[in-house]
Amino acid sequence: MDAPYARLEQVEPGIARVLAHNPSAFTYYGTQTYLVGERELAVIDPGPDLDEHVAALVEAIGGRPVAAICCTHTHRDHSPAAKALAEATGAPIIGCAPLALETVGPRADASFDGDYTPNRILEDGESLDIDGKPLTAVATPGHTSNHLCFACGDALFTGDHVMGWSTTVVFPPDGDMAAYMASLDKLRQRVDRIYYPAHGQPVTKPQQYVRGLMGHRLHREKQIVKLLQAGPRDIPAIVEGAYPGLDPRLVAAAGGSVFAHLLDLQKRGLVTVDEDIWKAA
Ligand SMILES: [Zn+2]
Repeated sequence: MDAPYARLEQVEPGIARVLAHNPSAFTYYGTQTYLVGERELAVIDPGPDLDEHVAALVEAIGGRPVAAICCTHTHRDHSPAAKALAEATGAPIIGCAPLALETVGPRADASFDGDYTPNRILEDGESLDIDGKPLTAVATPGHTSNHLCFACGDALFTGDHVMGWSTTVVFPPDGDMAAYMASLDKLRQRVDRIYYPAHGQPVTKPQQYVRGLMGHRLHREKQIVKLLQAGPRDIPAIVEGAYPGLDPRLVAAAGGSVFAHLLDLQKRGLVTVDEDIWKAA
């Protein structure tokens, strides 16, 4: 595979990226770290704490001042390099809130970066000045409760909220389907020219793409309700019915997304559950 690991790629004036060498069924080729600005920089999603990746970022920064190291959320493929990069550059870590792990369940310990300690947390709509331009936080909970996108001019850095290669994993209890749909709707109402996701290619028709993602989830929801109307079943049976031919590495994630849909449907009174067996209300 000839992915451009540890290489600086200029994607447009004022926006460059470095791909981290952490390919997987969840990260595609790996995490894309973005450098925003020219004379002064913000680093968005520093990525996993891999020596090769941090060294490539330091080289790409090339001694320019870094005003902020920004994380969209605290999954382990996004935020752990923040600390090493802050030490290397003296830059502050500014962006999403840390997560209180005890409130988000056992899976959190595996996938969340518990060492993330920001110097400053950005609320929805708050901006930083980067190289004379505002970089604005856009709160987009759903994939995780602490997820932020970052807007700069007419480009939006979407982290894992919208990805360029696959649909986003929404894994309860921290992942929340209703919040995720509301956050998609929030993006649908914006006018961005392009999305730069942490994984996959840039999204050049954002409005159309977001509408497609929302349609996909609504279709999935209908499919789940239909399966349950045909007869009560547990989550593995729903996954089997709704995701034929699924990559076995993604079965657990699909189960998480189905669970997220079911919790949302339950809240809306459309399904009930008894001993892990779900049925239509
Ligand atoms: Zn993530």
